[in-house]
Amino acid sequence: MEEKKKLGIYIHIPFCVKKCLYCDFLSDKADRDVTDRYIEALKKEIGYTALNSIDFKGQFVVKTIFFGGGTPSLMDGEVITDILDAIRERFDVSNEAEITIECNPGTVTKQKLDQYKKAGINRLSIGLQSANDDELKLLGRIHDYRQFLETYSQAKEAGFENINIDLMSAIPGQTVDSYKETLEKITALSPKHISAYSLIIEPDTPFYEIYSDDLSHSCCDTSGINSPAGYSKWPSLPDEDSERQMYHMTKSILEEAGYHRYEISNYSLKGYECRHNISYWNGTDYLGLGVGAASYMNGIRYSNTSDIYTYMKACEKLDNIPTSEYFFDDEEDAPDDTDYLNKEGYHEAIQPLSKNERMEEFMFLGLRMMEGISKKGFKERFNTSIEDVYGDVIKKLTDQKLLEDSGDIIKLTDRGIDVSNVVLANFLL
Ligand code: SF4
Repeated sequence: MEEKKKLGIYIHIPFCVKKCLYCDFLSDKADRDVTDRYIEALKKEIGYTALNSIDFKGQFVVKTIFFGGGTPSLMDGEVITDILDAIRERFDVSNEAEITIECNPGTVTKQKLDQYKKAGINRLSIGLQSANDDELKLLGRIHDYRQFLETYSQAKEAGFENINIDLMSAIPGQTVDSYKETLEKITALSPKHISAYSLIIEPDTPFYEIYSDDLSHSCCDTSGINSPAGYSKWPSLPDEDSERQMYHMTKSILEEAGYHRYEISNYSLKGYECRHNISYWNGTDYLGLGVGAASYMNGIRYSNTSDIYTYMKACEKLDNIPTSEYFFDDEEDAPDDTDYLNKEGYHEAIQPLSKNERMEEFMFLGLRMMEGISKKGFKERFNTSIEDVYGDVIKKLTDQKLLEDSGDIIKLTDRGIDVSNVVLANFLL
């Protein structure tokens, strides 16, 4: 019998207590009616997708499930249990599946965490960002450090062993010393995994209005948005030099504490790498369920509408839609015309990837991983040798000491990691 393919499932819960000032994720405040209606719609989508598209149970085994958001930990234990039951009923979920929920401090109780554990969640990803209360306040986070510590100890008490903590550098007003303190406080807790990203000022966020003129690090008291309590004006973003110091400090402090960097922004103790995120980076199929969720199945990338009302209305009608076949056993069989795909009214941005696009992705995503990419893996996947496609680029970047090319493996050097965006852009075809 042919071995089943691996599948990751992402579930989007788009609700938050309030919007953080830097956030451009698909999330918003919502009242109970909308939340309840959304969860019912989501369960319909789960059932419909499993029964009406590909033969998921026959062809795929679910290796990872990830509840992201938003703040999925706003959901009661029963809701998460119901969603996981609906998934298990219709998909073949491996007994060893990694099942993660994103959790914000101040939104869980020990009882809720016990219920999550019972439902089968075995990994928590806690959004802390900083151990400094002033920085948390500036970001518009709903919690302080004390609440985080409470959540963390409740999680341990509930028996969660595999915990990630999200941290952020380059926060307005943050200093190299305050960031160092955050890293030291967190490593002292010994979570199994730490994600450390730099703040990016995204368009359409309050921070963009406040800081878009400040990206040259000059002044920042001209915003029409009230400065946070305790501040007469918005503090500046850290200057470029401090930002670089923070970036390098992340690696040195975390490595010193026993964490290994396995992806540009992700560190873990050995054996606790996030399997769900790795599956994105190594090109495994994944199914995104819920408003705005992105999927990559059989070489087709698509996402659900990001309008929650369109999404809910379309899902509510799903029972009445006859079976559609919009996936193909082999990506080569997928027709160029993709109009047929949005029969249900909630899929959009449907994009069958060309071979060149898939090769680019293989390089972009694979090189984010410290272990790099395998030349043999490239050949097996694309039936072409990597040298034929990227020989000149690899030679150039290796000569510049940005890439290391040894035996079957190509990976970024430390210098290449520092300027990864520039290096990766070379792999565009
Ligand atoms: S908690 Fe996360 S998703 Fe929610 S508003 Fe803040 S950053 Fe955005």
